[in-house]
Amino acid sequence: MTESGGIRKGDKLRIGFIGLGLMGKPMALHLLEKGYSVCVFNRNKASVSELVARGAKAAESPSRVAQESDVVIDMVTDAPDVEQVLLQEDGVIESARKGLIVVDMSTNSPETAISVSSQLAEKGVEFLDAPVSGGDKGAREATLTIMVGGKKEVFDACRPIFQVMGKEIVYMGLAGSGQATKLSNQVAVALHTLATCEALLLGSSYDLPTKDLLRVLTNGAASSWNLINLGPRVVARDFEPGFKAAHLHKDLKSVMRVAEAKHLALPGSAIVLQLFNAVMAEKYGEKGTQVVARILEKLAEREIA
Ligand code: NAP
Repeated sequence: MTESGGIRKGDKLRIGFIGLGLMGKPMALHLLEKGYSVCVFNRNKASVSELVARGAKAAESPSRVAQESDVVIDMVTDAPDVEQVLLQEDGVIESARKGLIVVDMSTNSPETAISVSSQLAEKGVEFLDAPVSGGDKGAREATLTIMVGGKKEVFDACRPIFQVMGKEIVYMGLAGSGQATKLSNQVAVALHTLATCEALLLGSSYDLPTKDLLRVLTNGAASSWNLINLGPRVVARDFEPGFKAAHLHKDLKSVMRVAEAKHLALPGSAIVLQLFNAVMAEKYGEKGTQVVARILEKLAEREIA
């Protein structure tokens, strides 16, 4: 922020980072590695210590993070979490000042982005919704695709920060446009996840060699990010999370709310949501999304091997 409260450009902005999970931790690390001053907050302190050991400052609340920062990024779970860290007690809004920029990079909904943006605007705080795609791998390798909604001049001021964490940085329009883009992305992600697991189930029902099956599927018209990255994990019986099943479940529920409000028929997404309801019933929410294979295996009474 400048003395007059305008957006500071040119020099290195001080960054605050709230939420150091599978995605947030590597993203904050890239900023540190590029020489940014980074102040972090996380409820679970193990990841805070790791970041502090790499040069970050620790703050005891999101509000304290905002005091130490020109730009505050949050990477938490869902809309209520974003509202908690930004708008509630000890949240960023408590120490809000004119010219502070808040960037929500978690996945929630366009409605949340519009509402948070207007509540922060009352205090002179700028807001971008900037969800990401590319998985935990994209976060670790700084190759995320970042889709951004908000004022164009605020986006331009933050572009160098996005470029540290991602490869494809796309301005999509006013507040909410980033989240709308992400919901569209999640429709495709959900269907590709199901396609990956169904293809492997059918192939393995013929006892095909799964390594060669994957080689064929990932090198022809069937290929997708999911087949390339999650297919081998399913075959290796590795259900640890890159992207947690509970998070895709939350995203599919948001997709369905939009479908209902806008009278869109999205039958594929509806089917995947039903399967993820079963994933949640099996208490697989903390597993990776590829765990939906386990539901298909249960229905087929056979394993992908
Ligand atoms: P995660 O590993 O579960 O991390 C979530 C982080 O948010 C944790 O640091 C957690 O803190 C923090 N958090 C959650 N609720 C909070 C609250 N109410 N107050 C304070 N901190 C809170 O999830 P993730 O995989 O990093 O995903 C983060 C977001 O990115 C989600 O919206 C997800 O949908 C999206 N996303 C994920 C991927 C992926 O592949 N993983 C890809 C694209 C987008 P604690 O550690 O203290 O619980």
